Amino acid sequence: MTVDDALFRDEFLPLFRQLIRNACVNTGEAASGHEDDSVATLTQYFAGKGLQGQVFHAQPGRGNLLIRVPGSDPGAPSLMFMGHLDVVPAQASDWSADPFAAEVKDGQVWGRGAVDMLCWTAAQAVGFAEAVRRAPGGRYAGDLVFLALADEEASGRWGAQFLTEQHWDEVKADYMVTELGGFFIDTDRGPAAFCTVGEKGVAWVKLTARGTPGHGSMPYGADNAALKIAEAARRLGRLKLPLRASGPYRKMAAAMARGAWERWALTSGWGEAWALGRLLARNPGMARFLHTAGRTTVSPNVVHAGAKVNIVADRAELLVDCRPLPGTTREALESLIRRALGPRLSAQVEFEVTDWFPSNISGTDNALHRAIDSLFRDAHPDSRLVDLFIGGVTDGRFWRAKGTTVYGFSLFSKALTMDAYGQRIHGIDERIDLESLALGVGFFRDLPSRFWG
Ligand SMILES: [Zn+2]
Repeated sequence: MTVDDALFRDEFLPLFRQLIRNACVNTGEAASGHEDDSVATLTQYFAGKGLQGQVFHAQPGRGNLLIRVPGSDPGAPSLMFMGHLDVVPAQASDWSADPFAAEVKDGQVWGRGAVDMLCWTAAQAVGFAEAVRRAPGGRYAGDLVFLALADEEASGRWGAQFLTEQHWDEVKADYMVTELGGFFIDTDRGPAAFCTVGEKGVAWVKLTARGTPGHGSMPYGADNAALKIAEAARRLGRLKLPLRASGPYRKMAAAMARGAWERWALTSGWGEAWALGRLLARNPGMARFLHTAGRTTVSPNVVHAGAKVNIVADRAELLVDCRPLPGTTREALESLIRRALGPRLSAQVEFEVTDWFPSNISGTDNALHRAIDSLFRDAHPDSRLVDLFIGGVTDGRFWRAKGTTVYGFSLFSKALTMDAYGQRIHGIDERIDLESLALGVGFFRDLPSRFWG
């Protein structure tokens, strides 16, 4: 499992630091990101290894890099390492290090993308090249594939969505490892780390209310759209949806609970609020992960109303971020929201789903899950792996929706706790320890032989 110093110091670290320095910041604008810089960095690295890739563009400057090493047995399953190249913006004045200098200090590499997810993308690249070099005859039973994507931090429109819709034959895979997971928690039964097996859906809803414009100096009896939408936001904000404890939820709850009572309460529905409250006081990040994994969530986040201070608002909008559980339909979501508004208010608002992606989840009785589990135990014999079902989304969802078994996992050191990860991802002072980085390189290097072995 250990990675030799030269590989780590002379290949991995320079590559990883260069990806941070390339600063492929995705603001959501089509012209941002410029992932071509990191495609060039990776292309040059792989060329030195005798590996050649294919670059796909849906937007100028925003390249996606694919390398496929064909397997020897056409019947064997394929395995893909998938990473993204873009990062979210960073406000340098908030940081204690330059977010795009990739400084090494205090045994850590600092910079935007350190954990999300350039550490993985770089470890996947070096692990991939090393795995190919070590394969008998340069190939494994199935295709080994590396894919680095643009535009994960926005919609995936110039990356994952484009490739899975327009180039499925080139980018398809039976199994995939991508972000996010690998971070540690302490449990009653010792340390545990998470492997992401599924993601909730995304449903962005727009509610629109209409009113009648009039002079703001005479509000008596007025038909004010702002008041309707404010009331809708208040009611949705107070909505408490019941627990639906799926398999992964139960595993997460069992790992996060302290003692038998909490464990029972977190899965029972009856005592859930009590136990979740205790968890929130002890570890807010963990409580939020668990709360969202157990139910569809509804978060009213953006309100627009009115045009001018002296005109009664004739139009108002509320944008709601809903994260549905597996099996939830658009119709079910609409009726859930309309019920929460109540019949009178519901009759006064229009309902529109502006973005929709259903939840998906991968099974765990397969060769990839076993390979990940055994590499994890090799590295951390005192710890165990727990399935994680996340409220956010990764680009892995596009593949899972097409039948690929997708996990979010890399090996980290125990210093990378769920809390540390949660604070750093999209946060200030994003950084990662050198031991975690070395473990990640070894993980991706050894995964193919463990998977097909
Ligand atoms: Zn990411």
